[in-house]
Amino acid sequence: MSSFEQKRNKQVFEIIVILKIIYIALSMIAISSAYNFKKEIINVVLVPIVFSIILVAVLAYFSWIVVYIRGRIDKRPKIADYIETTIMLCVFILTIMTTGLQDSGYKLLGIFIVLIGAIQFGRNYSLGIATISMIIILAIDFLSIGSNKQLLSGYFEKDLILFSALFVTAFILGMYVDIEREHSKELKNLANIDELTGLYNHRYFQEFLQKSINNADKEKQEVSLLFMDIDYFKNFNDVNGHQAGDLILKEIGQIMKSCIRSTDAIARYGGEEFAAILPNTTEHDAVKIGERIRASIQNTDFKGQENQPDKNITISIGISSYPKRAISKHQLINTADDALYRAKSFNRNRVELYRGILDDLYENMEIDKDVVKFIKAFMNMINKKDRYTYRHTESVVIYAKYFGEYLNLTKKEKISLQVSAYLHDIGKLEIPDDVLNKKEKLTEAERQMFIKHPQTGVDLIKSIKQLDEFQPIIKHHHERYDGKGYPSGLKATEIPYLSRMLTIADSFDAMTSNRPYNKVKTQEEGIKELRDNAGTQFDPDLVEKFIEMLDKYKDK
Ligand code: GH3
Ligand code: MG
Ligand code: MG
Repeated sequence: MSSFEQKRNKQVFEIIVILKIIYIALSMIAISSAYNFKKEIINVVLVPIVFSIILVAVLAYFSWIVVYIRGRIDKRPKIADYIETTIMLCVFILTIMTTGLQDSGYKLLGIFIVLIGAIQFGRNYSLGIATISMIIILAIDFLSIGSNKQLLSGYFEKDLILFSALFVTAFILGMYVDIEREHSKELKNLANIDELTGLYNHRYFQEFLQKSINNADKEKQEVSLLFMDIDYFKNFNDVNGHQAGDLILKEIGQIMKSCIRSTDAIARYGGEEFAAILPNTTEHDAVKIGERIRASIQNTDFKGQENQPDKNITISIGISSYPKRAISKHQLINTADDALYRAKSFNRNRVELYRGILDDLYENMEIDKDVVKFIKAFMNMINKKDRYTYRHTESVVIYAKYFGEYLNLTKKEKISLQVSAYLHDIGKLEIPDDVLNKKEKLTEAERQMFIKHPQTGVDLIKSIKQLDEFQPIIKHHHERYDGKGYPSGLKATEIPYLSRMLTIADSFDAMTSNRPYNKVKTQEEGIKELRDNAGTQFDPDLVEKFIEMLDKYKDK
């Protein structure tokens, strides 16, 4: 509930409390004055008993108020309101009975009960109270006058004005309250909906995710989160215009909606990114749902899709789940986003379940435990500093793993290549954030900082004996095949073999994933770029092997 709503409820509640206090006070005054002055017609024993009951009821009632005025209004059970209405009606009967029955001037007090009912529950409830009040008054008239028809109709006539007042109040005020409630409900819905797609918006996404997580804690269940991003959407907008792009966003939103259950929620997270929250869903089931969404979009013919790189509109999906892969909302969002990044890195149009970079490391039992410890520490530092570099590292490690397998490297070489892939960018820890993420052209001094990062990386690990053997691979991962690279200007086979492999994996991921400063390339464009620079920047034999490897492992 929003703070605005809480404030409103509190204010309405205060009005009701004031009305109830006035009502009870007036009734008490009426009853006690009747007791003092009309002793002869009231049973002397009955009145003190009834009076004590009222007193206890009123005291109990005020304790309620004290409890929930202190910020617990919304937690008060609804039944309390019904009990209060019943008490008020009983008090009403007693007041009339003690103040002259059919002649009582306090029949008018019924208006208070109707007013309170209308404000609390709207039209139908207050009409019900008006009816009950009318029946009470009529019954008392009838019981005290007996069968004298003439007298009875005289009282009925007199009471008619009162009945009209009760019903008009119940109807008009109750209706007004209903309209106001309906209106604020609509406003509330509107505030949760994204105008363009009709899906939930970012604000509601956050609220629903938090609710789902709280519920998962309570029920010991899993919540899965899908992050979905349209592939090459910038290209679509550039070619077809933003309006056509908006239409695609709407259509995709509808497709996504048709793939989920009514208890799930799809939100437009931002721009062309969507998120699905799947309560009570394991990651295994979430992958199935993600795959269903991905396939539906791939198989839909969108207008203008022929100009997309794959002649098709596709999306990439990243999945994570709470509490299995993440232990907080923040972490759940980050891990799903990491998985999405990975889906983007590996040729898009795919569903990726989150796997931490360190999960892979732990599974690779053959890496020395000390080395794992150092890698973990450096990775945590990089992750804190710059998520892009962290995710890029993650992708390069995976390319390195498959490249090593494809080339049948020895076990020792495979490990060296992977460990070096983990550590190749740690020199960037020394580059200031604003330089690291700068979108504009770098100044000469800033360029020098970048050029220094392989050497800085080596300097960082120099004192760690267990990492000695990886130093040369890290140091030379920015050398060029033609000798124009850095830091040493090594040429061709002077560059360590594993460094030449790492250079290709590193460059390929940099080209094909979103970077702050470069336009993203498709996998085909990336392959072409590798070939265009084979022999100058890259080892030409290894470029071909890398491309073969991509083809062989494309479904992994
Ligand atoms: P990638 O495959 O890496 O996701 O490539 P991409 O081009 O989709 O890159 P990115 O996700 O960064 O694209 C964001 C683009 O989405 C920029 C903008 O053209 C488009 N976009 C964002 N919001 C809207 C919107 O409300 N309407 C339209 N028509 N386009 C939007
Ligand atoms: Mg995007
Ligand atoms: Mg996109």
